Formats: sequence, structure tokens, C-alpha cells
Amino acid sequence: MKNIRNFCIIAHIDHGKSTLADRLLEFTKTVQVTGGQMLDNMDLEKERGITIKSHAIQMEHEYKGEKYVLNLIDTPGHVDFSYEVSRSIAACEGALLIVDATQGVQAQTISNLYMAIDHDLEIIPIVNKCDMDSAMPEEVEDEIIDLLGCERSEIIRASGKTGLGVEEILSAVIERVPHPVGDEEAPLQALIFDSVYNTFRGVIAYFKIVNGVLRSGDEVKFFNTGKEYEADEIGVLKMDLSPRKELRTGDVGYIISGIKTSKEVKVGDTITHIDRPCSKAISGFEEVKPMVFAGVYPIDASDFEDLRSSLEKLQLNDASLTFQPESSLALGFGFRCGFLGLLHMEIIQERLDREFDMDVITTVPNVSYRIYDKQGGMTEVHNPGGMPEPTLIERIEEPFISASIITDTSFIGPIMTLCLGKRGELEKQNYISGNRVEIQFKMPLGEIVIDFYDKLKSISKGYASFDYHQDSYRPSKLVKLDILLNGESVDALSTLTHVDNAYDMGRRMCEKLKELIPRQQFDIAIQAAIGAKIIARETIKAVRKDVTAKCYGGDISRKRKLLEKQKKGKKRMKQIGNVEVPQKAFLAVLKLD
Ligand code: GDP
Ligand code: MG
Repeated sequence: MKNIRNFCIIAHIDHGKSTLADRLLEFTKTVQVTGGQMLDNMDLEKERGITIKSHAIQMEHEYKGEKYVLNLIDTPGHVDFSYEVSRSIAACEGALLIVDATQGVQAQTISNLYMAIDHDLEIIPIVNKCDMDSAMPEEVEDEIIDLLGCERSEIIRASGKTGLGVEEILSAVIERVPHPVGDEEAPLQALIFDSVYNTFRGVIAYFKIVNGVLRSGDEVKFFNTGKEYEADEIGVLKMDLSPRKELRTGDVGYIISGIKTSKEVKVGDTITHIDRPCSKAISGFEEVKPMVFAGVYPIDASDFEDLRSSLEKLQLNDASLTFQPESSLALGFGFRCGFLGLLHMEIIQERLDREFDMDVITTVPNVSYRIYDKQGGMTEVHNPGGMPEPTLIERIEEPFISASIITDTSFIGPIMTLCLGKRGELEKQNYISGNRVEIQFKMPLGEIVIDFYDKLKSISKGYASFDYHQDSYRPSKLVKLDILLNGESVDALSTLTHVDNAYDMGRRMCEKLKELIPRQQFDIAIQAAIGAKIIARETIKAVRKDVTAKCYGGDISRKRKLLEKQKKGKKRMKQIGNVEVPQKAFLAVLKLD
């Protein structure tokens, strides 16, 4: 135990966490890096530069003549996965706090730091990307000193690019991070902080032993789910899985025990022995609940079963994805899917497209509302079609979040306007250093899922970082806004929205749909309605569509290309009554401006 160090890296997205982790692995000869990053192994992650799933890896390092085992636990960097981050942090005794020397402290730097401080982690501050011309290490150090109340000498200057500071970081981990403490004689308590699905081996759960000893072949129980297994294989995480006979208090390792789906393993659960169980679970366990819901429909109705099996496969390795069949008059048969947040939704959409070649239409996302009826009962509704008759409803509550935005003082005005326009309430402002400020709001989550990120980005020219966590449910005045095409209500275009937003939203949706739906051989009336009341209207005038007319001369290959393009475009169209609606129209509400 004395020579073990368990630590994680916390950082805002793109501040260089993965790159620096690679340098640590290289320096300790855990891996020979041959270009690219080692810790992110999903293609999608690489492209997006976001570590989606946490991983853990064991390094060995000799320091002052003694051998140490360093377990690096990687954490996902996005708010959607903050529960997973909290469990990874709970498995560690220390954290490297990385701040980009060109960007300074950002929203996730702070939210992750608070989490680490809550768990009493030893924080090692690092200013990264010091190799860059635009680096301002002094200023960023000032920010860190303000934030942590540490000494300048405790901050390490580093570069994941040149390798500056890497050895010093390893020494600091050994010198400053406390070794794990626990009771080897006590009943087994191991904290599950992550799990991955492997086609051949089933689910591999990652854990840290808080107390006790686990041996291969032991009969174990997962405390919160109550499921029992045999520990078929246990071991430590090198570049591959390295089996071991026994793991002791303080060790980080993996267990394979014939678990078939990710749903069976809950991050945050406690592993204990069946014959000598611990008396209570490790605290902090939560069931993760989807926060954002959307309909996912195959473009071609005959793909419904394929879509189901694709979603089942995705769920095998992503337990936070939920789905259940639903049907729409406009879109036919599909699924209501639940996601942790917007990024999670985008990831699933992209994986359906890339890994399963599924052409799908995703409807406007909704959050989950609590509807109280007059008998005192409560149902959670996250689908416009699921709203009961207004006369049956006693009151409605919607989820609120605590949001934190860090930006340049020059953007305070427009950001305030944006947030207040989204029904946000200002909580407080903290000045971080000279010209930067943290603004805290309480806001309805439902306002974030619709075009918030894009707007924040554009008004702040990219210089605002955003982070949030769930807060509470609050009373809300919700209405169902319907869209009619040629007099027919299109259920897939309905949304639930606050009454104050409804008129504006109805008008803008009609305008947007007018842009997005191509002219057809007849006039198309687009209307927005609340109940029987029409609140907005636009008309698309008829036209004979002949795209090839644009081609001058007789360039036949160009003509053919255009026709092919048009055919491909067709695939993404959906026939609603007699109107052809392009796929992007269903997401129109997300891009209102
Ligand atoms: P993460 O999102 O925190 O994991 O960040 P990454 O490690 O993926 O790095 C984000 C981007 O910054 C990538 O394009 C890296 O190549 C680049 N980067 C990371 N560390 C450094 C550094 O020390 N110096 C420079 N110049 N670029 C870096
Ligand atoms: Mg990364």
C-alpha cells in the first residue's frame, strides 16, 4: 500500500489531458507511443478530442531507489458524464489539475476541481502547453493561486508536446499524493468506477479496493444491484489486461465474471464477498438517469427491427442509453431514447450512422417533466404526445440546473441577456482575475437542450466555457406547441415549451420550416398552434422543381452528379401526408435564430 499512488487528471476539454497522460505512459515505459493518443481508443473520441469513457492504467516508476506503482485513472471531460467523473475521483487520493497556459481556468476546471476537493484529493496544479508562443504561464499561475490558495512553487510548468515537466510531475505524484489507506483485514469493499463491454469477455468492471483482499475465484456480490458472481479473472490494467491471483487494499484492478451486459454493472457500486460481506456500501452511489429524451425513427420503415438490434448493441456497452418503442403518425414506428445530455445524444446518433449504417430521424429533444394530477399522482412525461389533457393537470414541474459560465468581462452583457432570455436567474458573479469572470445561474434544463450552446459560443466568439449540474424541480407553465402542414398536425414536430416562449417559438418554427422544406408542386401551409388556436402561419409557394436547369451547356457528367446528389437528398426526406419533409426540418427547432 505504501508504494501505491492512485491519481486522476482533471482539466477542461482540450487543455491537454490525454496528451500529457501519453507522455507519462511513455516516460515510465508503460507504452511506446507511435503517434496518436493512447488513452482515447474510440475513433469518435479522437475526432472530437473528448475522452468519452474513462480508463485506468498502471505505471511503474522508480524514485529515489524505490519502486512505485502509479495508477492513472482517466476521467471523461464532459458535463454529461459528470457522475462517472465523480466515481473516478472517489477512487483516487490525488489529482493533477491541468490548466492550458493559453486559455486559463475554465468552467470545467473549476467544477472538476470542486469535486476533487470534496473528496479530499491532493491537488497538483500544472500549467500545460508552456511551449506555445501565446502561453501566459505567470497569469495562469496567478489564477491557480487565487483558486487554490497554493504557493507559486507548487505549480508545475509542463508541455505535453515537448515533454517539459513530465518527470517533475511523476516525482510530485510520489512525494505529494498520499498512499491509499484502508484495512486489509476488513471485509472486502471495492468501488466500481467504470466498466467496459468486450465482445469476447463480456463486461469488464474497473474497481479500487478500499478495504480487504480479493482473490481470483472468490464468490462476490455487487452490493447495490444484489447480483452475485464468481470472480473468474481479476488483474491489473497495463496496456492489456494482466491477470493476478490476488489484489489488496489500495489496488486498482479489473474483474471479469461472466457479466453479459453493461446494465448489470452500475458505476459507483461496491463489490464485496458473499460469505463475509461488508456491512454497508461505499457512499456516493447513484442510479444515473437519462435527462434528455428524443424519438429516433428509421427513415425507411422496414429498418425498424435493424434499428432495435443496433440500439440493443449500443446499450450493451453504454448502460446510460435507454429506449422503448413508440410510434408517431408522421414517422411510423421508432424508439423513444433517453440520453444523459446533448453530447451523449449526438454520440449515439453518430454511432448509429457510422457503426450500424442506420439512417435515422431524430426528433426534437425534451427533458422529463413531472406532471401532478388532481388525484395527487405524479407521472414523468418526456414526450409531447404523452401530455395529459390540460384539464386533468394540477401542476407541472420542470428540472432546473445550476450553471456556471466563465468568460471575458466584455461578454457579460450579451451572456446575461441570453441567460435571462432562457428564463435563467442570476445567482452570483465571481471575478477570477483581471478581466475574467464566473457567472452562476439557475436555469431550466429544457432551455439548454434547445440551441443554447451554439448561441453561447457565437455571442462569446468561443471565449466562454459552460458547465452545469442538476439542481431541483420547479413549478412550470408548460404548453404543447403543435405544427400543422396543410392542416395536418405533425406529431414529430410538436414540442413542450414554456408558455412565455410559445408564440415566439411558433413563429420562428414556421419561418424555419419554410426555409427547410423544398417547394413542391402545390402550396404548403405551415401553421403553429396551441390547442385549437393558430398562433403563426407561413406558406411555401408551389414550383416545378428542375434542378438540372441550373446547368449551363450540356455537361452531362455534371448533370448526372447533380441528379445523384438529389437522389441521395431524397433518402433523407420523409413523406408527411402529401408533403416531403427533409430530415433536418425535424430538428429545426434546435437551430432557431
Ligand atoms: P484533452 O481534451 O484535455 O484530452 O486534450 P488533448 O490532449 O486531446 O489536447 C488537445 C489539443 O491540444 C490537441 O490538439 C493536442 O495536440 C494539443 N496539445 C496538448 N498538449 C499540448 C502542449 O503541451 N503543447 C501544445 N502546443 N499543444 C498541446
Ligand atoms: Mg482527451
